[in-house]
Amino acid sequence: MKIHEYQAKSILKKFGVAVQDGVAIKSMDEFDNAINHLKEQGVTQFVVKSQIHAGGRGKGIVYNKDSRDEVVYEGGVKFFGDNVEKAKDYAGKILNNILVTHQTGKEGKQIQTLFIAQGLDYKKELYLGILLDRTNSKNVIMASTEGGVEIEKVAAETPEKIIKIWIEPSIGLQSFQARELAFGLKLEGSAFKDFIKFISALYKAYEEIDASLLEINPLIITNDDKILALDAKINLDDNALFKHPDYEALRDLNEEDPLEIEASKSNLNYIKLDGNVGCMVNGAGLAMATMDLIKIAGGEPANFLDVGGTASAETVENGFKIILSDKNVKAILINIFGGIVRCDRVANGVVQASRNLNIPVPVVVRLQGTNAEEAKKILDESGLNIFSATTFEDAAQQVTKAIAKN
Ligand code: GDP
Ligand code: MG
Repeated sequence: MKIHEYQAKSILKKFGVAVQDGVAIKSMDEFDNAINHLKEQGVTQFVVKSQIHAGGRGKGIVYNKDSRDEVVYEGGVKFFGDNVEKAKDYAGKILNNILVTHQTGKEGKQIQTLFIAQGLDYKKELYLGILLDRTNSKNVIMASTEGGVEIEKVAAETPEKIIKIWIEPSIGLQSFQARELAFGLKLEGSAFKDFIKFISALYKAYEEIDASLLEINPLIITNDDKILALDAKINLDDNALFKHPDYEALRDLNEEDPLEIEASKSNLNYIKLDGNVGCMVNGAGLAMATMDLIKIAGGEPANFLDVGGTASAETVENGFKIILSDKNVKAILINIFGGIVRCDRVANGVVQASRNLNIPVPVVVRLQGTNAEEAKKILDESGLNIFSATTFEDAAQQVTKAIAKN
């Protein structure tokens, strides 16, 4: 689950991580109060930051939500120094309009929340990230002196500028490792000491909240040598959310794909992609392999959809509905292994769902496992626009051919 920057900062603050402070607002009526509140805390400079679930906001472009070619403002994050009037004008112009960044795709995201934050002067931008390194089964902390810019670019062009430290799960972050990071970031004096405190608190937060990703970009060294998170990105591990019932409130459904929300209601694991072959598969591993095979056959998957171990007629029907709400879908491939579920029951489900929904695109079905023969017979005799396949390759090729014909 992704959360907003302002939510991430509020969590980190509770763990003693130094962050750029601010107040989140959803309407311009709250603007003056936010500024006054910050002024009371001694804040004299201000930044206005769009809150969307995507990075690259600073370099993004804000478009008018009604006439999408009209540029409202360049930049979804702006520093205004002590000029509150300009900050207010900017906030009023961008709120509820659409921010497009390199991470949002061209459709962009609507700015429904603004973070009115403390503006800071700083001398250096650094990078810090924590995530699970699956190949080593350990968390890795990545740090770089090249903060602020796109870290993907640094990783691709100058990988030697990224320092990595792997954390032994049974021991946790050791002080020598924290020092190694500080040396790698070329920190000295009070910034060095400040960083040790910062990274210890940050790592503790990462573990306790069950994050799957925690990224601070930029981490700044202020003019008075303090270390502070100017930006914060946290992804929470969905599988651990049950341990943190209070985090449910952090979920922003406005930011999620409506189809993915719909799918999660029917217990389907759906992720929308950009291709035109809709996939319905049971089991995440089989779903991944199916997507690979479609690609090898020259097609592009339109989605990842795992209907789970017990694919009933009802789940198949819900799966069809979700796949077909994506207008890019030109054919559907169903690849189901009948282990727990019997293939003939799935075949009946497919036929029934096809009749109920009047599916406008060709459907290729591969059912293997218990009662596969009977299943094939049911599909072949249905008289519907359903093609049965026996092997994996055959199924992938049939579905890409079906698209080429249409
Ligand atoms: P992102 O573009 O989505 O990663 O958003 P960030 O929170 O990283 O902000 C983008 C950029 O805005 C930063 O890299 C800074 O250059 C600038 N910025 C944000 N807050 C401040 C601030 O307090 N002072 C100054 N001078 N610049 C800021
Ligand atoms: Mg950033």
